[in-house]
Amino acid sequence: MVRVGVNGYGTIGKRVALAVLKQDDMSLVGVVKKNADYTALQARKLGIKIYAPTEDDMKKFEDSGVKVEGTLRDLLEGVDVIVDATPGGMGEQYRKLYDQFKVKQVFQGGEKPEVAEVSFSSLCNYSEALGKRSVRVVSCNTTGLLRIICVLNANSPVERVKAVIIRRAADPKEVKRGPINSIELDPPKAPSHHAKDVKTVIPWVKITTVAVAVPTTLMHMHHVTLKVSKKLTKSDVIAVLEEAPRVMLVNAEKTGITGTAGIVEASRDLRLRYDVPELVVFEDSVSVEDDEISLFQAIHQESIVVPENIDAIRALIPLELDPAKSIGKTDRALELNKRLW
Ligand code: NAD
Repeated sequence: MVRVGVNGYGTIGKRVALAVLKQDDMSLVGVVKKNADYTALQARKLGIKIYAPTEDDMKKFEDSGVKVEGTLRDLLEGVDVIVDATPGGMGEQYRKLYDQFKVKQVFQGGEKPEVAEVSFSSLCNYSEALGKRSVRVVSCNTTGLLRIICVLNANSPVERVKAVIIRRAADPKEVKRGPINSIELDPPKAPSHHAKDVKTVIPWVKITTVAVAVPTTLMHMHHVTLKVSKKLTKSDVIAVLEEAPRVMLVNAEKTGITGTAGIVEASRDLRLRYDVPELVVFEDSVSVEDDEISLFQAIHQESIVVPENIDAIRALIPLELDPAKSIGKTDRALELNKRLW
């Protein structure tokens, strides 16, 4: 059993911690929490051990009557891998400490690529992370773009990609972020940073991205156009996506689901926290013109990177050399499937 710790128990950290608990080849030693809020009490209810970043933080927990086992340093003594899910940019500050304790490191997409040896996406470059000291699981939008590119590329080499990214304004808990009543160019200047981030994983791809932020918290949506070198029909593309791991096809005509609210509502009825770690491709939106495939895909920003974090842990050790086997194992443990109905 690989011993895992999670530093930062927010949107991503709490999901990765629960995902680790569901694996039979890794154990969760504990999580580092900054504040003694309700999520600390929930973690304790789930039997998860809590550590504080520093001794000063530990006092806050003790004053609130929430039991903590020690500090981050104590946690690092007892783990093989630390998953850093602290706010973007903070992982870089922690890196030296992780090195000092000689633990393997998984960082998140809010960090600069230089934080780790490899930027990671399970379906694209699992093997590059085998036995490495550190990886950075790329952001939610980048993970979504990489999934569609690498799945299609395995069937017909992708020559060029153009994507329009419609970003959610904030996560549901982030009440102070916006926009509330605008469609904001985000960033105003083209291209957006996503294209560069995709290239940190697959440098060979020609890609351009632009992005806007819209007043919603549920999911991101992308319109992606991929020029491929071997001609595929619309039904070829749908068959490829039907077979691919971590991709869910939604047929609007058959299901009545025509957008992110429908996906989330269907998931609310079936899943914990309505998480949808699969990339959701709208089947009816798939169109093929000559050598260009285009489609709409939706990304649940809070959960899409969770299975990638589990695969990253497996690759770093390495627990599993075969990417397909790790992906299959993770997906079975997380009960990812192809349908929400
Ligand atoms: P978050 O703010 O929800 O969680 C971060 C947690 O770290 C919070 O609980 C905070 O209290 C805690 N924290 C703050 N300072 C700390 C410290 N010194 N030591 C330990 N913990 C500390 O953030 P998040 O959305 O989970 O983002 C984490 C990382 O994941 C970022 O790099 C982000 O870019 C990336 N990411 C976020 C999303 C998303 O949509 N939320 C998607 C993909 C990747």
